[in-house]
Amino acid sequence: MPASLALHNTLTRRLEPFQPLAPPRVTLYTCGPTVWNYAHIGNFRTFLFEDLLRRYLEYAGYDVFHVMNLTDVDDRTIKAAAAAGKPLRQHTEAFVRAFFEDRDYLRIRPAHVYPRATECVPAMITLVQRLLERGVAYRGDDGSVYFAIDRFPAYGRLSRLDRRELKVGARVASDEYAKDDPRDFALWKKADPVDERAGATWDAPFGRGRPGWHLECSAMSLHEIGTRFGVETLDIHAGGVDLVFPHHEDEIAQSEAATGRPFARVWLHGEFLNVRGTKMSKRFGNFLTARDLREQGVDAAAVRLLFWQTHYRQPLDFNDAALDGAREGVRRLGEFHARLTQVAAGRTRARGEGAVGALAERFENDFRAALDDDLNAPRATAALFEFLRGANRALDQDPSRDGARRALAAVDSVMAVLDVLPTARALDAELGRWVEQQIAARDEARKSKNFKEADRIRAALRAKGIELEDTSRGTQWRVV
Ligand SMILES: [Zn+2]
Repeated sequence: MPASLALHNTLTRRLEPFQPLAPPRVTLYTCGPTVWNYAHIGNFRTFLFEDLLRRYLEYAGYDVFHVMNLTDVDDRTIKAAAAAGKPLRQHTEAFVRAFFEDRDYLRIRPAHVYPRATECVPAMITLVQRLLERGVAYRGDDGSVYFAIDRFPAYGRLSRLDRRELKVGARVASDEYAKDDPRDFALWKKADPVDERAGATWDAPFGRGRPGWHLECSAMSLHEIGTRFGVETLDIHAGGVDLVFPHHEDEIAQSEAATGRPFARVWLHGEFLNVRGTKMSKRFGNFLTARDLREQGVDAAAVRLLFWQTHYRQPLDFNDAALDGAREGVRRLGEFHARLTQVAAGRTRARGEGAVGALAERFENDFRAALDDDLNAPRATAALFEFLRGANRALDQDPSRDGARRALAAVDSVMAVLDVLPTARALDAELGRWVEQQIAARDEARKSKNFKEADRIRAALRAKGIELEDTSRGTQWRVV
């Protein structure tokens, strides 16, 4: 386990060595989408930064347990369902499906669990009861239950609110409210007719109603790690910078007031994405979704590379020129990978790893050093392209099979984190069937020890750009 990873903790505003509670386990909670509509590309910048984090932790040998919630009941989902004239569940279901499709398109590694707020209400009711028993929550005269911020002295620590600004006794019922307006916030909202019509109310000892958005994340995260690992502290809690206040501030208040323990050891926040000057944003205003990109045939690898080229704590401009640049980068990486694959599998005599091997070694070290430094992906991708240029030059002079193998291993290992090779060309079904037939014929030839025929088939496939690899799971093939 590397002791070298340092992350910028929003709680302390400092770069800190990363130390999970019980290594190699890392519990990671990331605030998921509010499924009232399609998630826009700015949301996906946050989810992609979290994907980088998750993948790098796994690359570094940690055993990550990743929870991402789905907010399928809150002010916005209920309003949207009412506007669409649908029950809440029916309205949100389509956007949950769309979110998973977009996630897969963008090659985001799935979380281990996706708790849905509407399916975790008992845990939320328990948490409200704990807070009432501890005297940090109270029932307002409007029938809702509120968190009393003056009963929690650490309130405002994450967002650095000056305590003098707190309006003691003033209340706010809406899920989102202004940063300069910290007030007692709703944990549980008394049922109103709109909620009832949407099917968004539950019975509770403190009155029929529905959970507040902030409460949902506290209850779901504590429930998921509590039942699995018997802990009440997350190793990492991450989200977009817009969630620092009030959402995460309120999550800390609710969780820590109930458990008496730190809620999360490290808080990470990703910066905004600006959509300007894209053809797509002209069509959609500033609301650009992942599916707009997919429909325009944009390779997810280009989106990922573009995002990695800006540090997650820096704002990012999404525009056509930047996307074109990333597309070109992805194309070069694809060519480089194909060249390494070809040389590594080729008939050139092994002559040791040579200059390419040394470059690969240095590249892997630079890659790790960059990501250890608060996930500095721009530096990691710069090292990748520097390696590409250096290795191409070295291969021009000495295309050694061992050197190419070493380089290929380096590229493949970092791709487990960056995942920016071009999406394989779509094969038409007919070619796919032909390849499968050829592989079956080659298997037959090998079984009857007709190796000449087996070699002929392999060569015929290679002539069509199909590379075979014999593995313990049978013969695999890919387009090169
Ligand atoms: Zn949340």
